[in-house]
Amino acid sequence: MRMDIVTLFPGMVEPVVSASILGRARARGLVDIRVVNLRDYAEGRHRVTDDYQFGGGGGMVLKPEPLFAAVEALRTPAARVVLTDPRGRRFTQQVAAELARESHVILLAGRYEGVDERVTAGLADDVLSIGDYVLTGGELPALVVADAVTRLLPGALGAEGAAERDSFASGLLEPPQYTRPEEFRGARVPDVLLSGDHARIARWRRAQALWLTWKRRPDLLAQAELDAGDRRWIERFERGETPSSDAAP
Ligand code: SAM
Repeated sequence: MRMDIVTLFPGMVEPVVSASILGRARARGLVDIRVVNLRDYAEGRHRVTDDYQFGGGGGMVLKPEPLFAAVEALRTPAARVVLTDPRGRRFTQQVAAELARESHVILLAGRYEGVDERVTAGLADDVLSIGDYVLTGGELPALVVADAVTRLLPGALGAEGAAERDSFASGLLEPPQYTRPEEFRGARVPDVLLSGDHARIARWRRAQALWLTWKRRPDLLAQAELDAGDRRWIERFERGETPSSDAAP
């Protein structure tokens, strides 16, 4: 998969895509992430990329010409152009999975007060927001998208983890996890996890995932795939019961 990140601040993006799982996936050829300097596509001696907005209102807006020129230079027939914008559709694990199936994604990082609306209307195939807050620029959102998408590419996580077990992948939050030591400052790892009884461990994890999701993100339960046993657990939570921290349900 190829991903281009178009930005006015390549120095902010390059170190992140060179490090950790993103850097490794890139080095192994699983993803070809290119950081593209928007200024390279601006014209004139001063390579101006932004200008005042019509109608007043203060603040600068990214001009359409360099963004169009950059995308036209980078575009391949299969490219999907994604604009980062707090007004966009919410970026979720499902959207990450959708993008991971693409062969070429061009991510546009906005700046200042945002981008000229003709970019949104005439260039972007998709407009994505990473959450209901406003950041200074689209570099962090583009990196969030690049990271979440890359770790879904086959082989990207190696032995370190499995994306299908992560929070949201099954529609629920991931259950609690423990590592050594078995006891830390008086808090013990639940016995069930040390039991070696895989069926019991799986039941415990499911109940804990349901409990965490019910407590912290009940909105997710409406979309999650739940069986009759899961629904019985939820009825118990609604009656005030909790899954014990140790006993398998
Ligand atoms: N004036 C804009 C508004 O009120 O909607 C905010 C512009 S923001 C300061 C500058 C750029 O940062 C945006 O064009 C976008 O690329 C990026 N950005 C900021 N917050 C974002 C978010 N939550 N999701 C995605 N992109 C965001």
